[in-house]
Amino acid sequence: MYRNKKMAEEKNESKWIIKTQYFHFEKKQDNTYTLKFQNRVYEFHIKSFLHKAKQKKWIVLQISAIACGLLMVAITVQKRTKIEEKLVKEIGQGVGGFENTNPPKIQATQKKQEKAVPSHEGVSEKDEALKDKLMGVKQDTASEENQDAEKEENQIAGKLFYTVKPGDTLSEIAQRYNVSVASIAGSSQIRIPDDLRVGQKLQIPTKDGFFYTMKKGERLASVLKKHKVDIKKFFQDNPGINPDLLEPGDEVFLPGAKPQNLIYGWLIPVSSRIITSGYGWRRYPKHQFHPGLDLKAPYVPVRATNRGVVKYAGRLGGYGNCVIISHPNGYRTLYGHLSRIYVRTGQRVNRGRVIGRSGNTGYSFGPHLHFEVTRYGKRLNPLVLLKGLRYKKRRR
Ligand SMILES: [Zn+2]
Repeated sequence: MYRNKKMAEEKNESKWIIKTQYFHFEKKQDNTYTLKFQNRVYEFHIKSFLHKAKQKKWIVLQISAIACGLLMVAITVQKRTKIEEKLVKEIGQGVGGFENTNPPKIQATQKKQEKAVPSHEGVSEKDEALKDKLMGVKQDTASEENQDAEKEENQIAGKLFYTVKPGDTLSEIAQRYNVSVASIAGSSQIRIPDDLRVGQKLQIPTKDGFFYTMKKGERLASVLKKHKVDIKKFFQDNPGINPDLLEPGDEVFLPGAKPQNLIYGWLIPVSSRIITSGYGWRRYPKHQFHPGLDLKAPYVPVRATNRGVVKYAGRLGGYGNCVIISHPNGYRTLYGHLSRIYVRTGQRVNRGRVIGRSGNTGYSFGPHLHFEVTRYGKRLNPLVLLKGLRYKKRRR
């Protein structure tokens, strides 16, 4: 009965009808459309629909504009993806492929670049935080630190500037700015991290990695490959960059990378660079062989010139309070006339560790540091190891 009735309706009123197992669509003679879908019935009249659309013409326009915008975004994203894909292909690296590898090994050399490059954006907030740090404002509750760490992760790399002051070492500056020595050295084009000049301008990235200046004839792909830079991270820190438009002198940030030409030399044990008495025969205070260098050091911190083990720490005749450190490769260094000793025999020390304070103990006429070097028991002129020292006046 029901079936017959329905069939009759269809015959009389429907112009055409679509039936699938999912929906049921029919058009009736008076241009009424019916859609039955998931137990619901939608009915609309084509004339009234067009009329409404006309009334709301501006809405239609807006929707079209939004659609166009979305299309443009999609095209841009696709273009960027293509740039990344091209670079990945050129390098032969899967995206994220270097994420879990060990830090890059030191291989090639890098020429000095002199071009000053403007700072990246997004620095000011970090700058402020840094100032607080330098001024001793403490923000070290665990949760805040975690938040900071997260922020750093997400922020693109920025750059800070620092002018070297007397007594600064790169490791201390790096610690203060919470980045690696290599990151600062690389960004500042320093090859010997210990060789800082007072007044020298340092460029400090806000996260590990370094700012690299492109050289003539160099392709970004080879730079990224050489420094094992993760491409995803690279584009995060260099948003909008187009490798094909890079020119010599342009700067890019290489996240997580280390410069490959760093030379970790011997540290000058005190902040001054002045020799008050040289190595060798001398007449004053009496005619004798001077087996070390005397450095200007008026009660200042004395640092281990390299890593090693304290061989001796205590009184030692004319040397007064004295520290001797045994270093790798047969080197030993001696620090004499100290007013204070901060290490004990047998202790391991890192390069740059403060081991005491200079003074005037033992056979000494005024505070200074007496510094000696031997290698496999043979005396060496310390100037062989320490670079950047100068004589106070003519050698006596
Ligand atoms: Zn001396």
